[in-house]
Amino acid sequence: MSVMRKAGLSAIVGMLLMTSGSIAGIEAGASAKDVEVQGKVICIDEARDEIPCSGESTRFGFSALGGKRYFFMPDDVRAEMFRDHRVRERELVVKGRIRPQNQLEIIKVWSVKNGQRFDIHYFCAVCNIKTHVGGPCWCCQQDFELREDPID
Ligand SMILES: [Zn+2]
Repeated sequence: MSVMRKAGLSAIVGMLLMTSGSIAGIEAGASAKDVEVQGKVICIDEARDEIPCSGESTRFGFSALGGKRYFFMPDDVRAEMFRDHRVRERELVVKGRIRPQNQLEIIKVWSVKNGQRFDIHYFCAVCNIKTHVGGPCWCCQQDFELREDPID
């Protein structure tokens, strides 16, 4: 992915974040196919077989408690944070919408520690930007900080 395209996507994600609360609320009421699953991210190949994760991993699935597996859509910008090994190593709760072939379109991701949920995201304190896509801040070019804020 080019730097320009990444910057564009990040801007879109930033805009989505500002309205995500209300959108998620509306969508949750409109569909019975939204689920919340707890587990860990796995790395998969094109055939959806689990493979060891590396810095090059771009395809991801989810191994939920109880053994059920989901697969994230390759073009889901919210799955980009799973490229970060720190995120993959967390126990996560993913709220998403079930799509054909056991795909899960992400609505929201939380990390979980000791039963407490955390809003996991990237943040630039200089620019006061919150996003779900890591890498250099598109505003000041400094690396985003991975943050986990406890939620009530
Ligand atoms: Zn910045």
